[in-house]
Amino acid sequence: MNIFSGLDEIVETNYPLAKRTWYGLGGPADYFLRPKTVEQLKEVVQRCNENDIAIYVMGFGSNLLISDDGLRAAVIKLEADQFAQIHFDGEQLTAWAGVELSKLVLTCVQKGLSGIEALTGIPGSVGGAVKMNAGGNFGDIGAAVETVTLMDNQGNVFEKSKPELIFDYRLTNITAKFILSAQSKLSAGDPEQIMRTVKEIWIYKKNNQPLNTTNSGCIFKNPRGVSAGALIDRAGLKGLQIGGAVVSEKHANFIIAEKGCQSRDVIRLIDAIKQRVQEQFGIELELEIEIWK
Ligand SMILES: Cc1cc2nc3c(=O)[nH]c(=O)nc-3n(C[C@H](O)[C@H](O)[C@H](O)COP(=O)(O)OP(=O)(O)OC[C@H]3O[C@@H](n4cnc5c(N)ncnc54)[C@H](O)[C@@H]3O)c2cc1C
Repeated sequence: MNIFSGLDEIVETNYPLAKRTWYGLGGPADYFLRPKTVEQLKEVVQRCNENDIAIYVMGFGSNLLISDDGLRAAVIKLEADQFAQIHFDGEQLTAWAGVELSKLVLTCVQKGLSGIEALTGIPGSVGGAVKMNAGGNFGDIGAAVETVTLMDNQGNVFEKSKPELIFDYRLTNITAKFILSAQSKLSAGDPEQIMRTVKEIWIYKKNNQPLNTTNSGCIFKNPRGVSAGALIDRAGLKGLQIGGAVVSEKHANFIIAEKGCQSRDVIRLIDAIKQRVQEQFGIELELEIEIWK
């Protein structure tokens, strides 16, 4: 019997993941599933468990590098209407995992609610941003989130709140498989002032990041007290190219995928950068992006 029988509407097989990553790279997944409800997500998890199928949860694929060989697994994406809801109760915000950050930021600006401006220009989903504690010089999502609703790999739904819920630099202590939604307490402010802050952050990013290229944001985390980009630059690696992967001239912590690039080119370039930085500065760079293989 077909593993996902009865769920044909939400499952695709041999699905090219390159279509779903910002890098536009990555081979096929055995199964690509977009459940429409929490109940359907539970059903999918159960079927995967019964059939020993590994599960990957994908947001907008803006922090992912997926192997050219693809994944012998089920990739689940929470993008249906149920997972794309935004609710306000006064200054209390509930954003579901599939909400696009840019849409969320602008909705809050329009409502005159301040607290998540730091997410401006980050091209991810709420689920991916919470998992990565996305942010930067202007703050991170963890500062705003108070409670998350999660589902574990058995389909149990539960909440986790601060102080039990901890956010650190590009890190959380969430171990549950699925982030379903996040709740934040925002503060009322002047929409024009909030918009000015959003614009300032946006201009900063435009000036400092190679935004009109195919990339996946910063490749490496900043080691304590140093910028990874500055180390890569000082090692003379700007412009270094392997296959179709090139170290950005604008921001050395970005690797650009040029036409014809494959994931293996990016991986080889990452290894080359790590080796040179280690040799020159004795610092081991740690990945910020996730590699799925
Ligand atoms: C041009 C550009 C600029 C960027 N700038 C920044 C920046 O300034 N700051 C920053 O922090 N990042 C930045 N990023 C990286 C990226 O946008 C963020 O990490 C973002 O939060 C990833 O969200 P996503 O939805 O794309 O997640 P994905 O890349 O799809 O997934 C990332 C991780 O989150 C997990 N995940 C996704 N959704 C869920 C869910 N619902 N439940 C459980 N786990 C989930 C995935 O399994 C994976 O582990 C940038 C990327 C690009 C391309």
